[in-house]
Amino acid sequence: MTKTNALFDGFCAAIEDRSNPFIHDGDGVVTYGDMLDRSAQYANALIDMGLKPGDRVTVQAAKSVEALLFYLAVIRAGCVYQPLNTAYTMSEITYFVENAEPSLIIVDADAIAPMQELSTKTIGAQVMTLDPKGAHSLTQKASLLATHFDNVARCEDDLAAILYTSGTTGRSKGAMLSHGNLLSNAAVLCDIWRFTSQDVLIHALPIFHTHGLFVATNVVLLSGASMRFFKAYDPDAVLDAMPSSTVLMGVPTFYTRLLSNPRLTRQQAANMRLFISGSAPLLAETHRQFSERTGKAILERYGMTETNMNSSNPYGGDRKPGTVGFPLPGTDIRITQPESGQVLENGEVGMVEVRGPNVFSGYWRMPEKTKEEFRTDGYFITGDLGMMDEDGYLVIVGRGKDLIITGGLNVYPKEIESEIDDMEGVVESAVIGVPHADFGEGIIAVIVAEKDSTLTSDSVRQALGKNLAKFKLPRICYFVDALPRNTMGKVQKNTLREAHMHEFGGSVDTAAKQPSGEVT
Ligand code: AMP
Repeated sequence: MTKTNALFDGFCAAIEDRSNPFIHDGDGVVTYGDMLDRSAQYANALIDMGLKPGDRVTVQAAKSVEALLFYLAVIRAGCVYQPLNTAYTMSEITYFVENAEPSLIIVDADAIAPMQELSTKTIGAQVMTLDPKGAHSLTQKASLLATHFDNVARCEDDLAAILYTSGTTGRSKGAMLSHGNLLSNAAVLCDIWRFTSQDVLIHALPIFHTHGLFVATNVVLLSGASMRFFKAYDPDAVLDAMPSSTVLMGVPTFYTRLLSNPRLTRQQAANMRLFISGSAPLLAETHRQFSERTGKAILERYGMTETNMNSSNPYGGDRKPGTVGFPLPGTDIRITQPESGQVLENGEVGMVEVRGPNVFSGYWRMPEKTKEEFRTDGYFITGDLGMMDEDGYLVIVGRGKDLIITGGLNVYPKEIESEIDDMEGVVESAVIGVPHADFGEGIIAVIVAEKDSTLTSDSVRQALGKNLAKFKLPRICYFVDALPRNTMGKVQKNTLREAHMHEFGGSVDTAAKQPSGEVT
């Protein structure tokens, strides 16, 4: 095998033996040898289909071993992987496809026809599935090809993936992540979290997001470890896996659900050496309850699509509840006054800014937006508000831009507000996230309707469901005469949040982490 593909070479270097397990799923074991062979076959299929280095490959497919092996094939073939949330509807996907202009789109079998129609109308890309058989099966095509593949040369600066973030102004931005970004971050995480080939990770996260795709998968590959692979999160299945596993990576909802399961005991968790949480704030209370029940302190870390992981609580030292720990080795974090960029002292709340080999190079085809979000000295302005505490631990105190995180998934209010505002009978709307005992945040829409409107909470939700993924739908819509505004005419979302703070049984602890998001 030619040694030239930065990320994949890193993974290969960690393989101790072809017969070592890489993935355990319901169907058996996929060894590292299988991984090499099957990803080589997919990579050969990509080359056969005429894909060139740098070509984008869009994937909106259910979580499966094939989908993971296909991600590796895209990297090996020198192409750029563009995963999409499986909950996105066709109308949402149109933008991503038009923006990324992929040469190939992978979908599940039931989406072949609508995706082909979309592709024909827009960019004319080939559309295939990873199903084992059928007219559009890439897997079937790949199975007839060689299990040897000369990896396409890619250096650290070359693009490996584009991951889309939600856009505050309604437009999503594609974060361009290089081989070097992914490789350097995974290497640091393997080191500080002490991953070895003996580790067995419980993988119950989606693989279209940075958490499940890069943090979890790349760390396993770069340490030659293995994972137990679950299509979805089921607390009972995770509990069953604990005695034969060593690490769990989850969003806070994983941990609140485990805590409400009586099977979570010290004995059940005894074999687990590490519980990691990220993607949304973990309540200090959840941290404490988990320690009491299992004797293990959850390790909370902080990152984002654009930057990979930025900070982590220590493996060896004190894991402080309510903090996201220290900057990762090689990553600089500073807190600044948002407008001036002046660096603030420990204890002062301001904008979290990050610089390092983990930070993306910019937004796909958005040079102006990219320029706006970087300081001239290379720091990326994350949009998160935070502070360094007296011991140098980073505390995320809120999110600028009013981002809502529900069940670990990001939702930008603006996108939902635009859909509601477009409905007949609606004057205006405001969408907020308020503490939710299970999901971290639950979504509420506050709507000003026209006098004679017959809209109800259910009819609005139903109409939204045609264009928006289910996780973005408000749980309740309220109708009011007017939205609260400040003297500058800005809607005061803070007032709305306070009014609905206890709607879903969330605690004050969560509320403290979610100030207005207006940076002053
Ligand atoms: P994403 O790009 O989907 O990974 O979302 C990134 C955002 O999630 C960050 O900008 C933060 O606002 C939030 N986030 C991630 N991890 C944490 C954490 N441990 N605590 C608080 N917020 C977090």
